[in-house]
Amino acid sequence: MRYRRIVAKFGTSLLTAGSDRLDLEAMSRLVGQVVRLREAGCEVAVVSSGAQAAGRHVLAHRPPESPDLSRQALASVGQSHLMQSWDELFEWHDVVVAQVLLTRRDLSDRLGYLNARNTLRDLLGCGAVPIVNENDAVALDEVLASRIGENDSLSAFVANLIDADLLVILTDVDGLYTADPSLDPSAHLIPEVDAIDDSHEDAAGDGPGRGGMTSKISAARVATHGGAAVVIANGHAPDALVTAAEGVAIGTRFAPAANQLESRKRWILGNAGVNGHLVVDGGAAAALRDRGRSLLPAGVKDVEGAFERGETIEVRDLDGKRVAAGITNYASSEVLRIRGLRSDLISETLGYAYGDEVIHRDNLVLL
Ligand code: GLU
Repeated sequence: MRYRRIVAKFGTSLLTAGSDRLDLEAMSRLVGQVVRLREAGCEVAVVSSGAQAAGRHVLAHRPPESPDLSRQALASVGQSHLMQSWDELFEWHDVVVAQVLLTRRDLSDRLGYLNARNTLRDLLGCGAVPIVNENDAVALDEVLASRIGENDSLSAFVANLIDADLLVILTDVDGLYTADPSLDPSAHLIPEVDAIDDSHEDAAGDGPGRGGMTSKISAARVATHGGAAVVIANGHAPDALVTAAEGVAIGTRFAPAANQLESRKRWILGNAGVNGHLVVDGGAAAALRDRGRSLLPAGVKDVEGAFERGETIEVRDLDGKRVAAGITNYASSEVLRIRGLRSDLISETLGYAYGDEVIHRDNLVLL
């Protein structure tokens, strides 16, 4: 495969195959593709819509009958059915799935971002497939009645959150066209977009039958700026996900607009003011600088300033030279208690642990 860490976003129309319920056959074809990617060594996170559609179907066929149920309530009923279906389908392949419900507010909060990032990283690391959806009960605002395409933007945030190198948005249209093909016979598919500009947003249009392309283009903008390539393709095409992951032309491909490392660096450094720093010994400084390691409590000599878990702090060596900056898993008061210790003593010392690392290498940039 050309890509290693992939976010696959499946829209409602794909999961229902255009019907009024989840289509297990369509879902199982997608599961088969995710499994093939994993067998080829890729890590895959899924962003799955379909909760509201599933809820609507369940409630239409058994009591309580309530035609006017809110979309939040529909999603709450449907989410468990959606997950049950994913669970059963992946189970056939002995693959464990994990439900992750997020709101965008969670991700704009520093601690929420760190927690979500750590959770997704842990899940991918242990071989599970995270299945992400928006936490509609919390996130959906009925006043903004037609917030379609929320999962498009969620998928872009997830791609950035896990440093994915590819986001595949599968829908029921073939990709981005130069104009609405149902109105303009000369409209044709745009196979490759190097840099998204206004013309692509205009081409996306807003009309029905365009697959909600506007929100997909803005998701592509966010994800490409985070360093991922993005493919928007028709999920009904056989093996669409695998084809995109192989780097073979399908749908519309958007080239990454930033180098992943650069964008992570920008995010980490832009995350917050630097409220303090850690002083580390020579061994730890060399491990960070030369061997791309995480910062463990064992290498921490001193703590300067006061900071909370989730803040960006600096790491300095014994000569006061800046080595790195990163998002800390532990508050300054906690680092003071665990500095110099082996990581397996963190739990014993604090009574809890947020992981073995004071700063994980994924959340660290060398200065
Ligand atoms: N979260 C919604 C659902 O699962 C879908 C929102 C969207 O497709 O953008 O039904």
